[in-house]
Amino acid sequence: MSNSMDRLLQENLEKRRLQHLYRSRVRVDSGCSDQLSVNGKTVHNFCSNDYLGLAENAVIADAFKQGIDHYGTGSGASHLISGHTKAHCDLEQQLAEFTGRPRALLFSSGYMANMGVIGALAGRSDAVLEDYLNHASLLDGGLLSRAKFQRYKHRDCYDLDKKLSASKGGRKLVVTDGVFSMDGDLAPLPQLADVCGKNDAWLMVDDAHGFGVLGNSGAGIVEQLGLDIQQVPILMGTLGKAFGTYGAFVAGSEALIETLVQFSRSYIYTTAPPPAVAVATSASLELVKKDQWRRDKLNQLIARFRAGAEQIGLRLMDSKTPIQPVLMQSDAQVLDANQKLLDSGFMVGAIRPPTVPEGTGRLRITLSASHSEQQVDALLDALDRC
Ligand SMILES: *Cc1c(COP(=O)(O)O)cnc(C)c1O
Repeated sequence: MSNSMDRLLQENLEKRRLQHLYRSRVRVDSGCSDQLSVNGKTVHNFCSNDYLGLAENAVIADAFKQGIDHYGTGSGASHLISGHTKAHCDLEQQLAEFTGRPRALLFSSGYMANMGVIGALAGRSDAVLEDYLNHASLLDGGLLSRAKFQRYKHRDCYDLDKKLSASKGGRKLVVTDGVFSMDGDLAPLPQLADVCGKNDAWLMVDDAHGFGVLGNSGAGIVEQLGLDIQQVPILMGTLGKAFGTYGAFVAGSEALIETLVQFSRSYIYTTAPPPAVAVATSASLELVKKDQWRRDKLNQLIARFRAGAEQIGLRLMDSKTPIQPVLMQSDAQVLDANQKLLDSGFMVGAIRPPTVPEGTGRLRITLSASHSEQQVDALLDALDRC
């Protein structure tokens, strides 16, 4: 029995390998900073989402340790039983204030937040409309909700408007990445908000890659574009990227948050994150607000990378964010370039379908405030050579 299972699985794996779509994990022997230790070698890290360089910050680490001294390592239960501590409450309040929303709710991860929110807000008789290039967790949330699920063309308000006008009865939930995770471009949120307003639809924005990075104080894409709770009633952000810790949150009205507490299955049926993570994230939030220099430096590095990449004729995309994809001709070329870069000491993301549409395989290069100008120049050199 198990032999036939393994034979079947092996065949599928072989097929994936032949398509250049096989994924393998790289074992990293260090923490996440501007460099990583891989196979006994130190390589420059141009693939993490640690945009502000906070994943190894000593102040945050100290807060984490103090959190453990006070609360221990585990929460021991879900939020609705006994896992909801003062550390979680404090962080929720701080995140609400930071995003300018009445309330915020912590989730264990961004994936779980997206599954939980969409499932709690839309069901069989409703419609969920998503940008074609949304993150997998948003697409999965839409599919699992059992609502009528549709995708509109990437950043296309006209297509969305058409689909919304044709949608009859029930709730209409429109869902988009704020910063698109594999392309680095921004959703046209003011226009999307107008289209939603006109069609009586609710707008949910996943700001995983904007939170901490965009806006004057780092409050993300809604701060950068000046969008209030009427325009973006459902705001989601993650804490494992620019914030350097772990987890996610949803911010919005009192009614929204209470609805999620009652009905969001990925909130209810899981153990609350360790309170120490919340303590650490509160410390992280202080640094995100205070250390404007991290965003300034990041933006300088982004400009430097783009200018240099243009000079050597790389196929960049329309992105002003730390996500700088370089399109390749084929998935085989993605793997080849990725290996060559690794051999010369640079680790970048090798992104292929189904993470991105067929024919758009790419190197996903991410910049961080922890990088130096020299590192960016050296990466450009290595890219030029391969
Ligand atoms: C990373 C990411 C998520 C998932 O967040 P995790 O906390 O890593 O589970 C959700 N949405 C987007 C757009 C992301 O990039």
